[in-house]
Amino acid sequence: MTYPQLNVHLGRLAQNAETVVRFCKDRGISVAGVTKGIRAIPEVGRLLLDSGCEWLADSRMDNIHRMRAAGIEGPFLLLRIPMPDELEDLVRSADCSLVSMSDTIALLDRECERQQKDFSVILMVDMGDLREGIWPDELRQMAETFRACPRVRCLGVGANFGCLSGVLPTPKNLTVLADLAEEMEAYLGYRIEVVSGGATSSLKVFEDGFSHPRVNQLRVGEGILLGRDVTGLRNIPWLRQDTLSLEAQVIEVRRKPSFPIGEIGADAFGNVPTFEDKGVRLRAIVAVGRQDVRPEGLFPFDKGIEILGASSDHLTLDVEDLDRALRVGDILSFHVDYGAMLAAVTSPYVEVRLLEE
Ligand SMILES: *Cc1c(COP(=O)(O)O)cnc(C)c1O
Repeated sequence: MTYPQLNVHLGRLAQNAETVVRFCKDRGISVAGVTKGIRAIPEVGRLLLDSGCEWLADSRMDNIHRMRAAGIEGPFLLLRIPMPDELEDLVRSADCSLVSMSDTIALLDRECERQQKDFSVILMVDMGDLREGIWPDELRQMAETFRACPRVRCLGVGANFGCLSGVLPTPKNLTVLADLAEEMEAYLGYRIEVVSGGATSSLKVFEDGFSHPRVNQLRVGEGILLGRDVTGLRNIPWLRQDTLSLEAQVIEVRRKPSFPIGEIGADAFGNVPTFEDKGVRLRAIVAVGRQDVRPEGLFPFDKGIEILGASSDHLTLDVEDLDRALRVGDILSFHVDYGAMLAAVTSPYVEVRLLEE
């Protein structure tokens, strides 16, 4: 066994997934389980489907291939609007994609012609978060594109909230999105089946009592994986937060002054650190750093531990207030936030350990 290690509690993840699916189902919503935050670990993909998620959604074709290679058949939804260079792969290996550009739809239609297949897409509308998506007044023009691309079907319209600018979903902007679906139906003359109303952050709107007969899909990652909603700055009270943990080993324990000795320049990453002089304190170093994880997203399990700083390979802790003696070789556990999870699962240095519970 090597450290650092990311423990993934599959049973707890399944509980979260089932709870989210039930919550959504009661409101006429189906769930696309989002796997990108955990680099599409196949066991996680499988439990999302077993828990009732209708789609597996990921931002990367590589991750979709990872699940396919493990025998998972999807259906797969590509979350990032596709690169022209991945369209061949997309049509071959996924079942649906988010899109926002006419050019991409035209290229997709040509690729479909080549492969003698049809392909479904969800047209993204920018509701103010300013990442991907058409402006609402481009809808008619996009309908023209779809009409000229008969192999590409507009399965739905969708929006992102809180991804880039932190703009929150509301009853108002979700209703606008649903209205756009009806407008698109009028242009296209066929039913827009899906109105994809956002991600984890949209759960709150429905918790607060909103529902809409047309808004019928959410794409949920963080809520299931961590029980958190970072855009809404909250732990979701009806989900578990103990799904993942990072373990790392103590490699030094020593009393040191809390104020550095000597002239202070910048640290290894170009930041000029500041210090509070608390006198001599007991410190520990654990063998984990920026090559493994995003240290700002680590939260010690133990009370009495404060993270002081991190370099590429070392995390320094103030353990003066810890209620037990710490020794070299001890293992410390940390909660991870979304950024730390993402860094850990994509670092070649972190071993992922799957646990039944
Ligand atoms: C990542 C992503 C999601 C999932 O977001 P969570 O906040 O993890 O639920 C949904 N939609 C798109 C387009 C994404 O890129």
